[in-house]
Amino acid sequence: MFNYLMPEGMRPATLEERKEFYTSEFNLKKVAAWLHVRPGRTNFAVIIGRHTKIFPEEYREDSDTTIIVDEYRDLRDVQRQVLDFLPEAAYYDRNVYVGNKKTGQELAFDLDPENITCPIHGSLADKLKRGQGLGFCAIELDMVRQQAIDLYEHLEKEWSCLKIVYSGRGFHIHVFDAESYGLTKKDRREIAHDVKRRGFAIDEWVTTGEMRLIRLPYSLNGMVSRIVLPLEKNDLRRFDPIHDARCIPRFLRG
Ligand SMILES: [Zn+2]
Repeated sequence: MFNYLMPEGMRPATLEERKEFYTSEFNLKKVAAWLHVRPGRTNFAVIIGRHTKIFPEEYREDSDTTIIVDEYRDLRDVQRQVLDFLPEAAYYDRNVYVGNKKTGQELAFDLDPENITCPIHGSLADKLKRGQGLGFCAIELDMVRQQAIDLYEHLEKEWSCLKIVYSGRGFHIHVFDAESYGLTKKDRREIAHDVKRRGFAIDEWVTTGEMRLIRLPYSLNGMVSRIVLPLEKNDLRRFDPIHDARCIPRFLRG
């Protein structure tokens, strides 16, 4: 973990900090409002300590695995399970389920600073060579923020119900138009390739649907100690995740 380059003030959260966040700061009402626009039932997932290597001792064996949370009564029950795992990351499944049957998938785009070629740190290959594949800097963060604005404006031509989320590292754009849920695998591959061809640093696996999990808005990104935060497009122009109090958890605000 200590080999990762990160912007000033960003660092992994301790188990005590994860516990404090999910006990008193995790906003279930906002999570419910986010999920409300999705049809069907939503499954969740957590990763306890894959990247940070920080995990409760009793979960040492499972610290690296993606643990699906699909048996729960309500969001309070999800919160209780998250507090048991104290994960570095919490996700939801973009698939739409009716009963146990998958009936569609939410379309999403993941813009990640690691895929940005930085004037100082170079390409992803350069960063990997130094063992800093998951690291990123303030310049990359700013470049990926500009890409999120441009991608949003590109997608706006096609879709009308778009949401942007600061993920703790980069940005996600979610498409909530009803027609997007029924896109075929082929449609999704074409959309991903088109966006990539236009120069956007997206993770294609998210858009094609191979990776169906996406960070849960309002959860804690435990790698960088930032709150996963939905933003308005106009907000994005001056959004600064290094200093913006809305995405800084209380344990860092002192
Ligand atoms: Zn850089």
